[in-house]
Amino acid sequence: MAISSYTDTRLLINGEWCDAASGKTLDVINPATGQAIGKVAHAGIPDLDRALEAAQRGFEAWRKVPANERATIMRKAAALVRERASDIGRLMTQEQGKPFAEARVEVLAAADIIEWFADEGRRVYGRIVPSRNLAAQSQVLKEPIGPVAAFTPWNFPVNQVVRKLSASLACGCSFLVKAPEETPASPAALLQAFVEAGVPPGTVGLVFGDPAEISSYLIPHPVIRKVTFTGSTPVGKQLAALAGSHMKRATMELGGHAPVIVAEDADVALAVKAAGAAKFRNAGQVCISPTRFLVHNSIREEFAAALVKHAESLKLGDGLAEGTTLGPLANARRLSAMAKVVDDARKTGAKVATGGERVGTEGNFFAATVLTDVPLEADVFNNEPFGPVAAIRGFDKLEEAIAEANRLPYGLAGYAYTKSFANVHLLSQRMEVGMLWINQPATPTPEMPFGGVKDSGYGSEGGPEAMEAYLVTKAVTVMSV
Ligand code: NAD
Repeated sequence: MAISSYTDTRLLINGEWCDAASGKTLDVINPATGQAIGKVAHAGIPDLDRALEAAQRGFEAWRKVPANERATIMRKAAALVRERASDIGRLMTQEQGKPFAEARVEVLAAADIIEWFADEGRRVYGRIVPSRNLAAQSQVLKEPIGPVAAFTPWNFPVNQVVRKLSASLACGCSFLVKAPEETPASPAALLQAFVEAGVPPGTVGLVFGDPAEISSYLIPHPVIRKVTFTGSTPVGKQLAALAGSHMKRATMELGGHAPVIVAEDADVALAVKAAGAAKFRNAGQVCISPTRFLVHNSIREEFAAALVKHAESLKLGDGLAEGTTLGPLANARRLSAMAKVVDDARKTGAKVATGGERVGTEGNFFAATVLTDVPLEADVFNNEPFGPVAAIRGFDKLEEAIAEANRLPYGLAGYAYTKSFANVHLLSQRMEVGMLWINQPATPTPEMPFGGVKDSGYGSEGGPEAMEAYLVTKAVTVMSV
């Protein structure tokens, strides 16, 4: 399938692409222009019922495919995704806004993730336990939990789906995802690769519509055995409560507010290069984006000046245009959210060292922004900005910085820059985060756990922990007769 221009997106039910029974659609907007570029089908309850029936049948078929054959099919899908990385990346840039190079890397990373999980699925071992009665054999079996309902957001349209999808399929589960209505075509292209690779009908399904209507229908539904969500903490808490009240296993990847501790002995150039690149990647709309920069007072001004220089070197523009390094915000909600964050920071006494405003009147462009001398009470130091805004504060003692890092209810990613082994040891022990990167940017590889603590959620989307989330344990004891 060649993907050259933007395409309308339909629902994927029982291995076939179809319109909603009602014929209802939503517009898809290019955030760089504000113009509608296509449509996405809007599922209603009759469509969801069909998708659920298909997911049940898909599960019965897929769980019977031997693990090595499942791996072969998944690897075939990965190869198709890799082959189409540029085409899928172009779709993503048009619907989400990120620079094409970032979109393409996201798609290539997806192929890597599929392959890692394909291999991991071949190693879902049970065990034999020494029995108390020698005539009996005690076995522990690991089985797929069942059909999965997934809910994914618009910031990484492919990556947010692929981790959940790959772990589900590797374990033998079927997978029904409500992907983002704002960025539907790139996740649809991902699922198409699995259809073409030969998963049985119903093994993968894709719907769009009213997020609250779909989640409140799918989560309690008896066909669904596992729920996985990525998005904001308030919505995650609602969905986790609903899953809990129906005794459904859940994984929650929620918001973060990543502290970046730059210690007195840090390599400032490295810290600016690594954390600066991470800060403005995907225009800061990243759950592990560095957001609270805590910089030792002896190097604070040097660090701030270098980060401003980095921010001003970025080229803001349409993600498909040559040389763009900072795209538009993904939707108009983020534009007003950024204006509010900067306004509030100004009012509380912070300085806007660069940026701080919308650029142009067409599209959702917001300048790369650096705030300095930010008071603790400023909104940006308390609520996830989810945009291209870096907020800097100074500190004198590392203990103070660690206390500030742990002050918020979030606990997703954390970053630190220091050359001292004692500091590394202290930070590793004391930071309340699910992922800590020291002297380097984030490297969320599939083999490492990916997830948060506290209000950032529970469960993991990487490493063997990600497989456990889609498996149930059965203890079987057999007596020879
Ligand atoms: P939002 O909280 O309305 O939605 C976040 C995501 O959850 C969206 O994809 C949305 O479709 C989905 N969603 C919302 N209500 C839902 C429901 N009842 N059932 C199922 N899904 C539901 O906010 P938004 O304006 O789209 O995004 C803004 C905030 O969301 C950001 O500030 C950020 O905190 C968070 N967010 C986090 C991530 C992440 O990677 N963790 C990704 C996107 C957005």
